[in-house]
Amino acid sequence: MLDQIRGLHHVTSMAADARGNNDFFTHKLGLRRVKKTVNFDAPDVYHLYYGDEVGTPGSVMTYFPFPNIAKGTPGAGEVGTTVFSVPEGSLGYWEERFAREGVAGVSRSESFGEKRLAFDGPDGDGFALVEARGDSRAAWTKGGVPTDAAIRGFHSAALRLRDGGATEELLKFMGYQEVDRSGDIVRLGLTNGNGADTIDIQTMPGAPLARQGAGSVHHIAFAVEDRAKQLEVRKALMDTGHQVTPVIDRDYFWAIYFRTPGGVLFEVATNEPGFDRDEDTRHLGEALKLPRQHEHLRGILETHLQPIEG
Ligand code: ZN
Repeated sequence: MLDQIRGLHHVTSMAADARGNNDFFTHKLGLRRVKKTVNFDAPDVYHLYYGDEVGTPGSVMTYFPFPNIAKGTPGAGEVGTTVFSVPEGSLGYWEERFAREGVAGVSRSESFGEKRLAFDGPDGDGFALVEARGDSRAAWTKGGVPTDAAIRGFHSAALRLRDGGATEELLKFMGYQEVDRSGDIVRLGLTNGNGADTIDIQTMPGAPLARQGAGSVHHIAFAVEDRAKQLEVRKALMDTGHQVTPVIDRDYFWAIYFRTPGGVLFEVATNEPGFDRDEDTRHLGEALKLPRQHEHLRGILETHLQPIEG
């Protein structure tokens, strides 16, 4: 069993509209945009990152806004719900805030003994806030949400799979352990994680497969400290038969990707070098940052990409 994984690093989804996406995460949820760059494999599309003050791994929600792509159809074989951690007693505040901001799909529930507020993202994305106990992570406090309610980072990601067994085994190999079970959901957790330590697997045999589009999670990334740890994880996954990509430089972290048995794309990303490697912390996420290989496209991209401010 591996011991290098530290929890979630980031969750990456697809969106249909860059400006609406930016507004939702910075204004409605009060996160900080920590990077404005492009999809390295399709540089005419933004890659927007939202998180805490510096984009600490475990807090980072990222988007590829493909202009006008069709909405995804939820189903099996994907991440169904991405869950953020908020302080105890704050869901009432969020309920009022979401009503005022016109956020859709808002509903209260309780699961695994935790109070939960589900809501839809800008393209119907499945999200929830959970009142987590003892989450000591610092929130971004300049996003217009009071400190005693602001998002601390991810609480968990919930996978919806036709057959969760093999993915559960994989996560256990990656260092997760079963911590609870409720109905058709098994909850896995990590000790010594970064706070974003929980993965729920919901098994839904016979459910139609998801069709990816706007509002769908593209992949989830797990955090490792550095490149040496990442190579250890890569070798262990390859040795157990997983097809893992070579290490790819994403400028703000190093990434490897592999498709899991249940259909969800996993990434393992390094905590180094971080989002402040090319911008002052005070101005994080403000300028359009391009990777070296696409810097020659700057003139075209600055004209082509939709302005997202205001
Ligand atoms: Zn990623």
